[in-house]
Amino acid sequence: MYKRRNFLKTTAILYTGVLAGAHNAYGAINDLATLYPHATKFELPPLGYSYNALEPSIDSPTMEIHHTKHHQAYVTKLNEAVEKDAALHHQTLEQLITNINSFPVTSRAAIRNHGGGHWNHSFFWTILKKDTIPSSNMQKVIAKNFGSIEQFKKDFEKASVSIFGSGWAWVIKDVSGNLSICNTANQDNPLMDITDKKGTPIIGIDVWEHAYYLKYQNKRADYAQSFWNVLNWQKVEELYMAR
Ligand code: MN
Repeated sequence: MYKRRNFLKTTAILYTGVLAGAHNAYGAINDLATLYPHATKFELPPLGYSYNALEPSIDSPTMEIHHTKHHQAYVTKLNEAVEKDAALHHQTLEQLITNINSFPVTSRAAIRNHGGGHWNHSFFWTILKKDTIPSSNMQKVIAKNFGSIEQFKKDFEKASVSIFGSGWAWVIKDVSGNLSICNTANQDNPLMDITDKKGTPIIGIDVWEHAYYLKYQNKRADYAQSFWNVLNWQKVEELYMAR
């Protein structure tokens, strides 16, 4: 009887977790982990749109390879790391990447690289959509933080281009609600406990060569400029308002 009751209780908690996650702006990402009661197993989230939906700014072959090969590889390698280390079981993706230093040393690089890669790409797909424009509310928010939309775009493009090697440029919201632009190397992100600049990402651009090389070759600046054609301003506003 006790076992049965405990089982029901556990099930209820897990189920509540799924429901609670749905109200989180990053819910889709967190929910993946809560669906597996025995040990965390992460899955490649669907894009929610077709590979050619962002043409011509981001081409279809790039999207398909990026999603099915690159992102999938981060998921697979993260799951391998979780399988090897019980300390990583029953953790959401966000719990893993925000507490890297609290996990065994032997698992930290895997969480940082593959957990970061999984989070960053899951996030990236959600903020892409063709031909959206910022609402008047978002225009005011951007102008207040960066001077003007034009200045903001210039600063963000500059940040994207100036990253040496692979990484991401971000717009983050700090605890006071202020926005700023920052860079991270490789698959680091501003949610991680190991990064200097911390905040909640509301915009991010992947500037690894795999994100643009098929179409833009070495011209990262052109890719950064085209990003504005496919930035989902409605999602950005949702993230801004939520956190
Ligand atoms: Mn990538």
